[in-house]
Amino acid sequence: QGVELERVREHVWEIPREGDMRVPARVLASEALLERIGDDKTLQQLKNATQLPGMTKYAVCMPDGHQGYGFPVGGVGATDAEDGCISPGAVGYDINCGVRMMKTSLSYDDLQGREEELVEALFANIPSGLGGGGVVEGDVDTVEAVLERGMDWALEEGYAVRDDLEHCEDEGFRPDADPDAVTQKAKDRGKNQLGSLGSGNHFLEVQRVTDVYREDVADSFGLEPDRIVVLIHCGSRGLGHQTCNDYLRRIEKEHGDLLSDLPDKELAAAPAGSDLAEEYYGAMCAAINYAWVNRQLIMHRTRRVFERVFGRDWEEMGMYLLYDVAHNIAKKEVHDVDGEEKELYVHRKGATRAFPAGRPEVPKAYRDVGQPIIIPGSMGAGSYVLRGGEASMAETFGSTAHGAGRLMSRTQAKQDYWGETVQKELKTQQKIYVKAQSGATIAEEAPGVYKDVDEVVRASDELGIGDKVARTFPVCNIKG
Ligand code: 5GP
Ligand code: MN
Ligand code: MN
Repeated sequence: QGVELERVREHVWEIPREGDMRVPARVLASEALLERIGDDKTLQQLKNATQLPGMTKYAVCMPDGHQGYGFPVGGVGATDAEDGCISPGAVGYDINCGVRMMKTSLSYDDLQGREEELVEALFANIPSGLGGGGVVEGDVDTVEAVLERGMDWALEEGYAVRDDLEHCEDEGFRPDADPDAVTQKAKDRGKNQLGSLGSGNHFLEVQRVTDVYREDVADSFGLEPDRIVVLIHCGSRGLGHQTCNDYLRRIEKEHGDLLSDLPDKELAAAPAGSDLAEEYYGAMCAAINYAWVNRQLIMHRTRRVFERVFGRDWEEMGMYLLYDVAHNIAKKEVHDVDGEEKELYVHRKGATRAFPAGRPEVPKAYRDVGQPIIIPGSMGAGSYVLRGGEASMAETFGSTAHGAGRLMSRTQAKQDYWGETVQKELKTQQKIYVKAQSGATIAEEAPGVYKDVDEVVRASDELGIGDKVARTFPVCNIKG
């Protein structure tokens, strides 16, 4: 695709600075992954991103990177929070799309033979699909309280326990949230989607732990082989999407000058310090809070489903939150840049925060070992739990991958796969029970449309940005 890469060292590749680039760009990937990355516009998008005002050190692409809207998925960009910019396209449409993992004390044995019953019960009780309907039917006041307070709202309303908040990134609450900066239209879309998976790539998966790589850390996380865990992947639904859209349009209108200097209009950014930058940041933080509550409500409902299916209390089944991570987000964070502490907008789009032991942002329970990182693979492959690696602060502004990363477009996937066939094969060959709103969804999300998650995680581990702790494998999966 005409973008030259230089090898810096193993797994580290650089696009040297030239022309209008403000800083170089880096791709962190093994050679096998790099070949896949080269197939689309990813590298050109990464190069374009270096032209964002205030871009610091380098724009970085994680091992699972692929092309996205303007800014690559798997991209990390840190811009100066004082005289740089903030870019909705570098956060993504699904603000605070993320994953959480809930532990259980159940073993795979406890589940075998009951997969069908469990997957049916989950599918019947967890709202999913394009349409409306959530765990909670709210009005605009409810939505505003959620936007303002995040998981604290869920705690007060009885949908969460204190322990849930203590095991969530930022305790499930961004104090900079400004509900007034979220449009009425976005709030209206959010009313009847509180506690819903949404469609396509979003899922709830019951998994079993298959491997443990770092026993001491796995111990601190409460993971051991054969245990059942539940992974929940979803974001801020229509409310987040509308918010991204609203601000992209406003940036085009109000900051056309900045925009015309950028190589791609999809990179639209608001200058740091402008009213619009503050408003977008406040609206984005509010949507972040909404997404945390969304995942919390789904987890709450999942506990109820397990209680009914297994006839025991959720506490008795040890259904506690391991951790919840955001992977579409921008945050003001302080980082060391050339020996100086600087406040930056760290954009992580399809990238996960990966703070190592000692960082004050890491919850108390994990401060000595590093934050948990959750990397889903696919409905037919393993997923991983990692911990923040020592090298992440210097290499990636404290970040690593967020998944295996797409290899194939949805259109291509529907030509190559037939949903019912994929579903049947998963069941007969791998004992994985999948239930989705439509066969097309299963085809679009077939295991073959994703890259090799083992390879992505190997690169992260060898780079020292996110260290392998445990691997899981799907048992039941419901898809929007
Ligand atoms: P994204 O947020 O980019 O839509 O998805 C994150 C990652 O989730 C993807 O890169 C892919 O590796 C993974 N993924 C997608 N569908 C599934 C699924 O059904 N189960 C699991 N475990 N992972 C999935
Ligand atoms: Mn999403
Ligand atoms: Mn996601």
